[in-house]
Amino acid sequence: MIHFRLSCNAGHEFEGWFPSGEAYDRQAKRKQITCATCGSTKIAKVPMAPAIAGKGAMEQAKAQEMRQLLDMMRAKVEKNCDYVGPAFAEEARKIHYGESDKRGIYGETSDDEARALAEEGIDFARLPWPRRTDS
Ligand SMILES: [Zn+2]
Repeated sequence: MIHFRLSCNAGHEFEGWFPSGEAYDRQAKRKQITCATCGSTKIAKVPMAPAIAGKGAMEQAKAQEMRQLLDMMRAKVEKNCDYVGPAFAEEARKIHYGESDKRGIYGETSDDEARALAEEGIDFARLPWPRRTDS
């Protein structure tokens, strides 16, 4: 069975179940499908686009978009930078003062450490790292 959302030429929308797409085409051509509201046999399929609606749908869409951006950014960082884990602040400091090779790093840092780094004029950015979806 296949499910279609249908609309008559007067704009009444209704739903129909058909054994197959061809069965729908055949029935529509033979005017065997009628609008329950006005009896019209001029029926067309309403395109079913993936959509989200309702309260918070926009926010959800934006959050999704933001998340995709962050995922892309994360992939880029993971590819180009060394992961130093919780030693981030220490390593960033070493790089800044030339004690470590100059390179891109990423890892975790606490609010206090981040503040200290900023006060020392060390260049870094904090990202709202999304959790991996596959974990
Ligand atoms: Zn109708």
